[in-house]
Amino acid sequence: MAVKDVMEALRDVVIENSRLSELVKDIRLVGKTLEIVYRLPRKGVEEHMVEKTKEALERVPEVDEVRVRFVEEAPAQPVMGAPMFTRRRVPGIRHLICVGSGKGGVGKSTVSANLALALSKLGYRVGLLDADMYGPSIPTLMGIKGERVSVDSTNRMIPIEKYGLKLLSMGFLLPSEDTPVIWRGPMLMRALTQFLFDANWGELDYLVMDLPPGTGDVQLTLAQNVHITGAVVVTTPQDVALADVKKAVAMFREVQIPVLGLIENMAYFVCPGSGEKFYIFGKGRVMEFATTYRLKVLGSIPIDPELAETSDLGKPVVEKSPDSDTARAFVSIAKLVSDMVERR
Ligand code: ADP
Repeated sequence: MAVKDVMEALRDVVIENSRLSELVKDIRLVGKTLEIVYRLPRKGVEEHMVEKTKEALERVPEVDEVRVRFVEEAPAQPVMGAPMFTRRRVPGIRHLICVGSGKGGVGKSTVSANLALALSKLGYRVGLLDADMYGPSIPTLMGIKGERVSVDSTNRMIPIEKYGLKLLSMGFLLPSEDTPVIWRGPMLMRALTQFLFDANWGELDYLVMDLPPGTGDVQLTLAQNVHITGAVVVTTPQDVALADVKKAVAMFREVQIPVLGLIENMAYFVCPGSGEKFYIFGKGRVMEFATTYRLKVLGSIPIDPELAETSDLGKPVVEKSPDSDTARAFVSIAKLVSDMVERR
């Protein structure tokens, strides 16, 4: 049982583009001492791996002591047709921005859609790629549910245009919105790679990518294969959300994708009568978290019934009510993001 827990804990740590659990060659628990033999991905990372292993295993109570050994492996023979891990730039796209979250339901897709629209309001040419392959919600948010993609004369997918954005989503490839995505991992990854490299995006200043929640294989595959400008991480102020943000941030850092900052969603509620702000999920927690982890808070979005309503109606708030406080908050975040990115 404990070894399974250990493997699970190691799965959350990424070193040199591999999960620690993938690098385990041998593992055994002798009493409360855990012995692990790792395949060494590269010379010089031994100390870092030991440190990360000990850190990850702090939350496995059955383990008191950890002993780590390494074996060097002969470099793998290249497999015919297997992709090499070189990060390709997506042709025609100046900046690829990922929007991630530690967990689902914190408003990541809502933020992705409104951030993309806000960047477009600033005058940039913007695309939005729904990479939340298992739960694509961008078609609903953007009012284009049921649309299908067509291909151009060179067989490249043509993104659908709405509110000035170019959009692609797994949702456009499914027969109906009730169809679950039952593809296996490699097929999903192929679809995602095709969305990036076999689509006719044209020239874009920004491509915003709505990632699946958490730290799964989509994120890792992207990090290994695609040149990403930076990531923003959406969180709510609750403890459960912040605990998982830690992992998401650690993953982006480990795979060397710059974390541009956090976006605090559902930060407070403004009472319509008095205008008073109520910090329902707690005040200052995201800022405190950001300070601890040396992150920037790019902005705070209130709990806004209009935001939920406009999303359900397929017209995001930045498009429907550009003068609202919520829309302005998104534009201010978009300005910060573009300032940071253009300066790099
Ligand atoms: P995720 O992509 O993280 O799973 P969604 O963007 O789908 O989350 O949002 C989950 C639900 O919360 C949706 O119904 C959305 O309309 C609502 N929502 C998101 N942000 C806010 C907000 N700031 N105020 C009110 N409702 C929100």
